[in-house]
Amino acid sequence: MNKFWDRFFYFFTFITQGTSFLNPRAYAIMHRMHHAYSDTEKDPHSPHFFKDIWQMTMQTKDIYINYSKFKIEPEKAFQGNYPEWKLLDKISDMWTVRILFAALYVLFYIHFATSWWMFLLLPVHFFMGPFHGAIVNWCGHKYGYSNYSNNDHSKNTLPFDFLMMGELFQNNHHKSPNSINFAKKWYEFDPSYPIIRILNFTRIIHLRK
Ligand SMILES: [Zn+2]
Repeated sequence: MNKFWDRFFYFFTFITQGTSFLNPRAYAIMHRMHHAYSDTEKDPHSPHFFKDIWQMTMQTKDIYINYSKFKIEPEKAFQGNYPEWKLLDKISDMWTVRILFAALYVLFYIHFATSWWMFLLLPVHFFMGPFHGAIVNWCGHKYGYSNYSNNDHSKNTLPFDFLMMGELFQNNHHKSPNSINFAKKWYEFDPSYPIIRILNFTRIIHLRK
């Protein structure tokens, strides 16, 4: 991406993640660690070291806070250049900003919800990031089938991952981490793949050859 699109998507992420905006640097460090240490004790969020999804999510949160608040530096192998926008990182992490987003969600529901039970979905919207992480990290390394032996417990949870837009093809993704298409077999479909191709076709991103 060029600088313009880099900033555009950084800001777009802030708007769309809202209440649960995740610091991209901290996210990237944890993701690289997850690949390097998949399902070992140094994996930041392997489901195989916790008795339930809540415990795993709480540890993930603690490690995330370490890196997002610069409480500790990552191991040398995971230091380096990460996208950073210090001002936006700061604003997005302010409690007032997170509460403002939450208030906007509530207003949206008041305006558009047609039945009372719809309001039960509000907590999911307040914690979209942790919900997404918990589902992908727990299910993607526990339930489903494997195409490859990656020396870990990564699984493809669904052959058509409409739930997490392809992120649940963990087994394929750990086999070829740099592949933009997480689907590998003829019966698998990764909904994010055509979107990436369109972004490349319209020159918003440039895929490495
Ligand atoms: Zn994984």
